[in-house]
Amino acid sequence: MNYKIAEIIVDVAAYPVDRPFDYVIPEHMQSLIESGSRVKVPFGPRDVLGFVVALKNETDIPIDKLKPISKLLDIEPVLTSEMLELAKWVKHETICYEIDVLQAMLPSALRAKYEKIVSLLVNVEQLSFLLQPYFNQTKKVNLKVFEKDNLLNEIKIAIKQKQLIIENVVKQKGNIKEVRKVKINESKSELLKVLEEISDRAKKQKLLVQWMTNHVGEIFDPKEIINEVNCSDAVLQAVIELGAAQYIHEEVYRDAFTKDVKKTGFLDLTEEQAIALSQIINAMDQKASETFLLHGITGSGKTEIYLQAIEHCLKDGKEAIVLVPEISLTPQMTERFRSRFGELVAVMHSGLSVGEKYDEWRKIHEGKVKVVVGARSAVFAPFQNVGIFIIDEEHESTYKQEDTPRYHARDVAIWRSKYHQCPVILGSATPSLESFARAKKKVYTLLTLKNRAVSHSLLPEVQIIDMREELKNGNRSMFSEILVEAIQTRLMRKEQMVLFLNRRGYSSFVMCRDCGTVVQCENCDISLTYHRANEKLKCHYCGFEQRVPTICPECQSDHIRYFGTGTQKVEEEIAKLFPEARVLRMDVDTTRTKGSHEQILEMFGEGKADILLGTQMIAKGLDFPNITLVGVLSADTSLHLPDFRAAEKTFQLLTQVSGRAGRHTLPGEVIIQSYTPEHYAIELSKVQLYEPFYEREMMMRHQAGYPPYYYLALIQVSHEDVLMASEYAGKAVDYLRSNLSFNVSIIGPTASSISRIQNRYRYQCLIKYKVEPNLIDTFIQLIKIYRSDWIKKGIQLSVDLNPSSI
Ligand code: ADP
Ligand code: ZN
Ligand code: ZN
Repeated sequence: MNYKIAEIIVDVAAYPVDRPFDYVIPEHMQSLIESGSRVKVPFGPRDVLGFVVALKNETDIPIDKLKPISKLLDIEPVLTSEMLELAKWVKHETICYEIDVLQAMLPSALRAKYEKIVSLLVNVEQLSFLLQPYFNQTKKVNLKVFEKDNLLNEIKIAIKQKQLIIENVVKQKGNIKEVRKVKINESKSELLKVLEEISDRAKKQKLLVQWMTNHVGEIFDPKEIINEVNCSDAVLQAVIELGAAQYIHEEVYRDAFTKDVKKTGFLDLTEEQAIALSQIINAMDQKASETFLLHGITGSGKTEIYLQAIEHCLKDGKEAIVLVPEISLTPQMTERFRSRFGELVAVMHSGLSVGEKYDEWRKIHEGKVKVVVGARSAVFAPFQNVGIFIIDEEHESTYKQEDTPRYHARDVAIWRSKYHQCPVILGSATPSLESFARAKKKVYTLLTLKNRAVSHSLLPEVQIIDMREELKNGNRSMFSEILVEAIQTRLMRKEQMVLFLNRRGYSSFVMCRDCGTVVQCENCDISLTYHRANEKLKCHYCGFEQRVPTICPECQSDHIRYFGTGTQKVEEEIAKLFPEARVLRMDVDTTRTKGSHEQILEMFGEGKADILLGTQMIAKGLDFPNITLVGVLSADTSLHLPDFRAAEKTFQLLTQVSGRAGRHTLPGEVIIQSYTPEHYAIELSKVQLYEPFYEREMMMRHQAGYPPYYYLALIQVSHEDVLMASEYAGKAVDYLRSNLSFNVSIIGPTASSISRIQNRYRYQCLIKYKVEPNLIDTFIQLIKIYRSDWIKKGIQLSVDLNPSSI
């Protein structure tokens, strides 16, 4: 049945209402259009991109009042009906525009880009003489040209006089890459006819066509033929003109993989692994949308469980979606998936070019692959028959998107698992407190792996070194004596080591080097943030501020200063202390170019270096048998972030990085240097047990009223003018205070920790609540006020439910 009207979500940012608009479907499109297709539609004075979300024949508005769709961009819809439904849910859960979700579901190559085109409405002679030369040959010129030539004023005047008009043109970015191939004629008799036509003098041509008669209907690269027959390009051209073959264009996928991978087989599972896998398989067979929390220590073989669960899923004829925190950081992980499932795997991560991402997405969309391994946005992979969702390192904050739509990949995966009636596995050695609490409440099913998978491999021994003592004994370097000795031993034994520099929260807090005190807020249990601009320390939560102290408030030492060391400095110091050591450095500076991660890791894997020195990037995913020492140079930095998750993040990081040592037969050792070794996050990382940490941290969260006991929402307001930003943040808070119940605590407004970004001043307000039925509606109302009024004044307002950091 052909429909006459389409409901369309249009790409108009900052329109006060977010709802579909009705458009008439022109007759020639009626048989082609489907829900999930992109279109161009008139909206106000311009054509904008839109998504068809429903088709119908009835509407309240008289049909002759509706505008028609201008252009259909996709004959095959780019979004499935599942995605359209999911978009509505995400919009509601994260309070954003539906269009933002629809766009986020697609690779950026498919996202429309607008170009501003200046069109001529009159005869070119009527234009001012400055503009005339631009329109002599054409009626349309890109506005950028006039920007560059500084003629915007002239353009403005001409527009006022109705000589010119600016149009927004949707620019199509997704280009399919094609190669030219030669297809040999399918009929042997025609080839023989061609052969007869060729004069005897054209020996090469005759030879070529003779060769072709043995390859009837086959497709070749032109170069292949030229090599094979040893003829020239012109000869090939000539026989093609005679009809012996034809050129065809074949679609190719840009290969997102940088190198070939050897196939590997399945491992015999340990007993723990087998028990966990059987429960997952059971859920798959029962078509149960069950969420499992797979809590296994580092090296316990979680990945092997993922691989075998996927194998089962593929045998069922279903697809698998695997999320990893930031895939360009864990090439080893993708390799393991490829080595099992080969060409059935697509990868999606930020290291790929726009074109490569688009190719991977098309393989999924067209059903050419069955497994996708990717970062956060791969949760939207358009498979139609998903059998399992896997989220590795589920505690990572990268699973929460920082910009609109502010979705959490875990929530999206769980929503989709209900749609597809299949299980979700959340895997981690150090689960987020939220997930572990849910597992304890039996919302998730807990699966536990307590031992390492490789027999005889034990968790490494961990030592914690008190750096305050080192300083007292006159050691001012960043290496403790014990760590220096340990490194020397490894160099002698030709074993490898990892040195980890914790750079989170770099330089942003002030600490006493003698007693380890970090300057804290008087009212809150949180470290003050150092603001370089005015040399002040500020509380991110309550607005309290003070000067940077020159002596320690606890011990009166004057060794107090902001804290942090760069990897480059460490590298220099290693060169001084261990001149014979071969060092590979892995940080943002050494990994800018594409493939550099893989290269560094490959070199390390081949034993071309003794020490791998790096930041967060080396904390997870590495699995090298020869690493026997992990040194953590500064455990404390992440502890003093102005974030209620600081202790959790520190414990996770220390556990992850310790887990890199002794994963195979050689025993491992970990040395953690700290200025606050008595802090529970550091102390408990020595025993490497998650549960004692969990219990302790839950107690802290309970006392301070943080998640998982309370929910949080973060409102941010920004403006170029600091007074406007603070005034409207105040208005937002007033609105919330008068509309929310007394059970909700509203903290703020205060200046954000980074109080100015790109010349915009930022204020924020934190909302803590347990149950507040009114909450979402109040936020929606606030956003309506913002969209219809504040936005014109240059205010930007955002609402982030369950922010990943504050
Ligand atoms: P995790 O993901 O839990 O950190 P991995 O899956 O990386 O652990 O496994 C750690 C190491 O143990 C890897 O080298 C892996 O090949 C190996 N391994 C995993 N399962 C088994 C098994 N059943 N038998 C032997 N080796 C295993
Ligand atoms: Zn002190
Ligand atoms: Zn405070």
